Amino acid sequence: MSDEEAIDFEQLEAETELATPEIFAGNLLEWAVERQASDLFLSDEEQAVSVGIRRLGRVEHVRKLTRDYGRRLQGHVRVLAGGDPGEMIRPTEGRGLTVTPGGREIDLRLSSMPTLHGQDVSIRLFDPVSGVRSLNELGYDDTELKIIRKLLGEPSGLILIAGPVASGKSSTLYAMVDELNDGSRKIHTLEDPIEHAIPGVIQSQINERANLGYAELLSTVLRHSPDVIMIGEIRDAKTAATAIRAGSSGQLVLATIHARSAAEAIDSMLHYGINPKAISQALLGAINQRLVGKICSQCGERVDGQNPEVETRVANRLGHHSAELWQTKGCDACYGNGFSKMTCVPEILAVNRSLKDVIASGSTAVTLEDAARNSGMLCMAEALAARVYRGETTPHEAHRVIPAPQFARLQPGGKHHSSVDGTDSHS
Ligand SMILES: [Zn+2]
Repeated sequence: MSDEEAIDFEQLEAETELATPEIFAGNLLEWAVERQASDLFLSDEEQAVSVGIRRLGRVEHVRKLTRDYGRRLQGHVRVLAGGDPGEMIRPTEGRGLTVTPGGREIDLRLSSMPTLHGQDVSIRLFDPVSGVRSLNELGYDDTELKIIRKLLGEPSGLILIAGPVASGKSSTLYAMVDELNDGSRKIHTLEDPIEHAIPGVIQSQINERANLGYAELLSTVLRHSPDVIMIGEIRDAKTAATAIRAGSSGQLVLATIHARSAAEAIDSMLHYGINPKAISQALLGAINQRLVGKICSQCGERVDGQNPEVETRVANRLGHHSAELWQTKGCDACYGNGFSKMTCVPEILAVNRSLKDVIASGSTAVTLEDAARNSGMLCMAEALAARVYRGETTPHEAHRVIPAPQFARLQPGGKHHSSVDGTDSHS
């Protein structure tokens, strides 16, 4: 966190120093959402309560509060988020909608757990106003959008979205549903939790306590004549099998799955005991993605005198755009961070005839990835490199997301004149 930000929050703090934790909580939430923070943390330390946020993928320390005040703040935030304010022994969860002093609505999802010094309270912040974004707004380039729209244009089949926590998977799912939601299709979603309400779409909440898991709800949804089914997550064999069955019997199924690459998403289905032939018949494509910081338009600047050598596969994706390197120093507009927002970087494995055969033979993820790259797929490091050379992000930020050697070489002080070889980094 820069000094500027510290001063910024100190000013807010001065206004609220004598305020009750209730008023302070409202201002803190507003401050966090204004900065596009995705999470707020209130953690007990030995002598204090530490306040932090996660913003644009990184944790930023905000300030420390006295233990007494911090505890009261934690308690109040737990009330706002529908949690039990007094439960100190067991982990608690909660969800609630609150309105900040500035009139901004925020959806809070809270989890708290006992720690060495007391409690760790973690709140995910959803800004319902920002709502569902369209595919065009997520950061995919024209080629990627074309491939994704071709997949969505199929009447039936399975599309898998992979990536770690906070890689924009649910934003992508929502954007896909939004794209398909033109009134001509019956669309069902199974979600845990439902992050946004979408008019015209039938949304159901998973409730494991009531024995309504993904598998149970999915079997029921199939009797409701759906055209499109969005599954929040495939995380058991039964859901995997039902999703494949739906995808090969006339429904378009969109689902996230835990996997580290697009090819490994197919591996994950195999691990759930799905027959490779059945996967090859149902699967339309697998998208693996990450989020990377987009350079602030106010303080980003081109690094002069750099003519990076670009690998042919990446150069082809750049088209007429010459390869540039950009850097950023932080300004008021980006709260000193240098980046204005997070944008999606996808690795898209679109299943064609030859890849169908590779999948049907039960190949390893490595073999499948090689075959997909031969069919023109850009792996994650290559898709990220294209963003670096277009000046959308910095080599340093790219390296934070994918620690591939070519991004280290491009950083200031690195050997940026050396050839950028994407072939050693697709694993
Ligand atoms: Zn800036």
